[in-house]
Amino acid sequence: MMKAWEKGSPLVALVQGEGALDRRIKSNQLRTKKAVAKAPNAIGCIDERHAPGIKAYESGKTCLGCAGAGILIPGVREFLTEGAPPSPEMTEFIQTLKERKIKFVYPHEGCGAAGAFAESVGEPKRAPFYAQLWAMKLADLIGAEQKTMTRISPEGFHDARAVYIDLTPDGRFNPDEAARDFPKGFHVSAHVMGLAQAEIEMNVAIDIALGAHGFGEFFTPATPLIVFVISYGESEDGDAFLKGSSHDGRVVYRKVTALKKPRS
Ligand SMILES: [Zn+2]
Repeated sequence: MMKAWEKGSPLVALVQGEGALDRRIKSNQLRTKKAVAKAPNAIGCIDERHAPGIKAYESGKTCLGCAGAGILIPGVREFLTEGAPPSPEMTEFIQTLKERKIKFVYPHEGCGAAGAFAESVGEPKRAPFYAQLWAMKLADLIGAEQKTMTRISPEGFHDARAVYIDLTPDGRFNPDEAARDFPKGFHVSAHVMGLAQAEIEMNVAIDIALGAHGFGEFFTPATPLIVFVISYGESEDGDAFLKGSSHDGRVVYRKVTALKKPRS
């Protein structure tokens, strides 16, 4: 684990300070704009190990990030286990994914969100089953293709050094598209799931990173987990996220406004 931490540290040190990532984006515009270059065509998890897994096996897929592809959205539990109709939150989520022309749904191995879901219905060992069931149902609901379980990298623990809250209206930000400039991190597509759900998922990501499945005690006030709140220019939508808990200085929040909306 120490090796993985050290591998990420040089880049983290460059972008950790207030405004540092914005300065890096401005000086490296050509390279950093890759992070918003592609319109997403798939939905996957916020898990930072997930998108690199997809990238390794499939080309041309750019994922939105929602915990368990949306499995924690209010109403999904009743929908999957009681045959209830989609909740208002689900309906909005489905509508948004259709508008964005999302064509692929990716469940993944070792999904913590699917694990939390399985636990909440009293079947903690059936996380993979529920991950796939939801991916299948969601794909049906939005007219997309359900992909098989994706592998994750690394397998044993979370190596996220950051959490990205994507507030771009088109949901284009994807740190994995410009990994030389954006440290590995959870990817929360906030406008796709709604801001209230995004705040919940931000805190899920922080708890995982600071806990036993993440780098945990490696995060200190000197080497904190960084939450980057990303928008095209200033956005009031980011205020609630930027006021999140510092967890005794182990988490810092940084506003990032320098990425420019692509023309197409
Ligand atoms: Zn997951």
